[in-house]
Parts: sequence; C-alpha cells; structure tokens
Amino acid sequence: MALCRCDEKQHKPKGTKEEYINYVKPIGYPETSSFCGRKNCNKPGLIWMTKEEYDKYLNGQTLFSYASSVSKVKVPKVNF
Ligand SMILES: [Zn+2]
Repeated sequence: MALCRCDEKQHKPKGTKEEYINYVKPIGYPETSSFCGRKNCNKPGLIWMTKEEYDKYLNGQTLFSYASSVSKVKVPKVNF
C-alpha cells in the first residue's frame, strides 16, 4: 500500500512492514493535497510505492490506495 512522505531524508519510509522501492510525485506536486504522513511535518509528500505498485504504475495505473483505506491518491500517467 502506498505511503506519502516528503523529500526529507529522515522521512523516507523505513522500518515499515512493506518495502518501498521508488516514489512518484502526486498530481500537481508540490501544489498537491498529498502531504507527508510523519507527525509534525507539513511538507508536500511523494508517493512511495512497493515493487508491485510501482510495476502497476509503469503499466499505466494512476490511482493508488494508502494502507489505511482512508483515501486514495492519484499520480500522473507514466511518461517515458
Ligand atoms: Zn516529512
């Protein structure tokens, strides 16, 4: 499940149950509604993906779920 974290090195996903291999900027980044999920951080977030999610992104998927199911996030179409 996707994770939203800002570009601060210390806020990269780590120690998570799932392994995140790469990120994609959400629609409109940095003027986005997706913000870093870390406590006390108010920076726009990057959408971190597992290998399975990133493969789907490379195959054209643009809508991804967060682990909590509270919302989904949309990213632009892949641009080779
Ligand atoms: Zn952050």
